[in-house]
Amino acid sequence: MQAENDKMTWKVAKIICQIQEIEIEVLVKCPYCELRVARLNLKESLWECDRCNKEGAEEELLRLAQENFFDKHQMAYWETRNNKGVK
Ligand SMILES: [Zn+2]
Repeated sequence: MQAENDKMTWKVAKIICQIQEIEIEVLVKCPYCELRVARLNLKESLWECDRCNKEGAEEELLRLAQENFFDKHQMAYWETRNNKGVK
């Protein structure tokens, strides 16, 4: 499955970075500011927003991002879940 492969690649990349002590930061949207000003540190698995200074664990950011996504795309999500391809 593609999603599983992506997950593995991500995990392997993180492990390699941890072993080699390489700091990698990804710019992500802060769930509070909704601007791409938060930095997700892949070595520390922590994120911090440059604008509002909120910070936390990556699991928390993932949960907040998913909640935010489903809030904004609830209708589209419902449609894709219930659309059987026949109109
Ligand atoms: Zn913020």
